[in-house]
Amino acid sequence: MDHNTIVHDIVIVGAGLAGSWAATVAAREGVRNVAVLSKVHPLRSHSGAAQGGIAAALNNVRPVPGSGPEGPLEQLPEGADPVDSVELHIFDTIKGSDWLGDQDAIEIMCREAVDVLYEYEHMGCVFSRTPDGRIAQRRFGGHSAPRANYAADWTGHVLLHTIYEQALRHGVKFHSEWYCLDLIVEDNVCRGVVAMDILTGKVYTLRAKAVMFATGGYGRAYKITSNALANTGDGVAIAYNAGIPLMDMEFVQFHPTGLYKHGILMSEACRGEGGYLLNKNLERFMQRYAPGKMELAPRDLVSRSEQREIDEGRGIGEDGQGIWLDLRHLGREKILERLPQVREIAINFVGVDPIEDLVPIQPTAHYSMGCIPTDVNGQVLADANGAPVVGFYAAGEVACVSVHGANRLGTNSLLDASVFGRRAGHAMAQFVQSGAVLPPVAGDPAERNRRRLCSLLDNPGSELVEDIAVDLKTTMTNNCGIFRHAEGLKQALADIQALKARFKRARVMDKSSRFNTDLLAALELEHMLTFSEVIAATALARDESRGAHYRTDFPQRDDSRWLVHTVAHKNGEDGPRLSFKPVTINWEKYPPQERKY
Ligand SMILES: Cc1cc2nc3c(=O)[nH]c(=O)nc-3n(C[C@H](O)[C@H](O)[C@H](O)COP(=O)(O)OP(=O)(O)OC[C@H]3O[C@@H](n4cnc5c(N)ncnc54)[C@H](O)[C@@H]3O)c2cc1C
Repeated sequence: MDHNTIVHDIVIVGAGLAGSWAATVAAREGVRNVAVLSKVHPLRSHSGAAQGGIAAALNNVRPVPGSGPEGPLEQLPEGADPVDSVELHIFDTIKGSDWLGDQDAIEIMCREAVDVLYEYEHMGCVFSRTPDGRIAQRRFGGHSAPRANYAADWTGHVLLHTIYEQALRHGVKFHSEWYCLDLIVEDNVCRGVVAMDILTGKVYTLRAKAVMFATGGYGRAYKITSNALANTGDGVAIAYNAGIPLMDMEFVQFHPTGLYKHGILMSEACRGEGGYLLNKNLERFMQRYAPGKMELAPRDLVSRSEQREIDEGRGIGEDGQGIWLDLRHLGREKILERLPQVREIAINFVGVDPIEDLVPIQPTAHYSMGCIPTDVNGQVLADANGAPVVGFYAAGEVACVSVHGANRLGTNSLLDASVFGRRAGHAMAQFVQSGAVLPPVAGDPAERNRRRLCSLLDNPGSELVEDIAVDLKTTMTNNCGIFRHAEGLKQALADIQALKARFKRARVMDKSSRFNTDLLAALELEHMLTFSEVIAATALARDESRGAHYRTDFPQRDDSRWLVHTVAHKNGEDGPRLSFKPVTINWEKYPPQERKY
């Protein structure tokens, strides 16, 4: 073995909740050599930016009796009837998914939610509390009981710190600021990854018995996004290029309340705590679209309603692309206690204090429902028939189990990453401990990737990476956003082809090897071009509207043809080849219904 090769039992790419959970569980179950790679410091993973909460039917609070759907909450009195249940959580999630979520997986997630929450608590996670000391809960969109467990509005931050500490405690090795470049899969067996130490620019082959991707989402492919700079969907593109299919890529979630022009998230907790959405006439327009749930309808519906108001000329701001978020009636005390970060962001980025002023917001690209298909143990699936890719696992936002189907409910994602990260850690430990051997690697994958980097660095072309990225984000936003139609999607595909051609002439300005962020931006752009084409192609194929995928030319849901997952396979340099996979449905318990709020 040469000095360019590093060997671990398990290599996990991504240190957010999914990756850190998997690493912790595998290590505590006795796997000695577990490593996690992260292109940013582990605690800077996007999980740490999550604000609103993590779902679990703990039954710690209830609406004050007689106070109505927007009324205050109180801790559940001793002996009082519970208001929530695992069953209700399952149903809400299925309905939220527009019946595209796999119901076996949803059931597992909602059942294990309660246990995962208590495990966080026992690890010392600092949740907000009810007066008698139970974990505090708030309302969230699409959930019919208050089940968002929270720590003020920095829930992801405290969860990530808690699980990262556990990973360190169990001796997990972190390769911090290492960038994964490639996945080594041959004959359907995963053999490792290739990664660059960003500090030195050195490229290594990391061999392992089991590899997991926990690389998070890809919101950065859009102009306005709530996502961290690192969320460029590297894992999605790297897996696809290695021959792994991608599932349900057409479903991109837009969150209704990104800060106007910035996209930074104003947590859904704003509406969970009772915030209003107003158009330029100061009208609570959700009355027109979801009179039953108002602002607490699920995200796809609220984002579309906002966009309708904007498109019909009732938006705010200089370009008319904004909507008002009104928190003033919540009062100073509640805002300071429950939404301190939201307030700080509004003051710092748009100069308004939500205690006294309306906050300008707009829909923002937020979450990827699709990506790498897995079973409920994180095992990646090679095709629509469910054949496994031996030794390759995925969990968190990069995985599609699928629990979110066509639309994710808020607070179900921290839960998904925790539950399925934990399960994948266990599955990998079992796999490694059941006698898995280190699979051989043919040739020198690191060298292949060094050549890729050199050709980028040596390219004398005249195109700027940043310009191509802006054009990609523009076409994705205009043609593959909240409202879609065939013509726009074809335009997006043509634009992406042209941008790929321009990328071949892209020049990296910084030629150095140490911490070359210019080079990283080029790699990230190449990844975004790769999976954006899949998003547009699958969105064009699905000629119906379901969840977050809304086709103005096909506004109805069509269960007779489209109650299926889309599976996209790489097909040389041509666009993806599509196949379809049935949705797992319990026809007796949860048959598809019309989705109304
Ligand atoms: C602003 C915001 C608020 C949110 N609020 C909530 C909420 O309140 N409740 C909820 O349930 N969900 C929320 N979400 C969604 C949720 O936070 C994410 O879906 C979830 O945390 C994803 O976790 P993850 O472990 O899959 O990935 P992430 O936490 O995104 O971590 C990805 C990891 O992959 C690493 N990585 C990526 N590419 C590479 C590469 N090429 N090489 C090496 N490492 C790489 C990164 O460094 C990082 O460590 C929110 C999301 C955002 C953006």
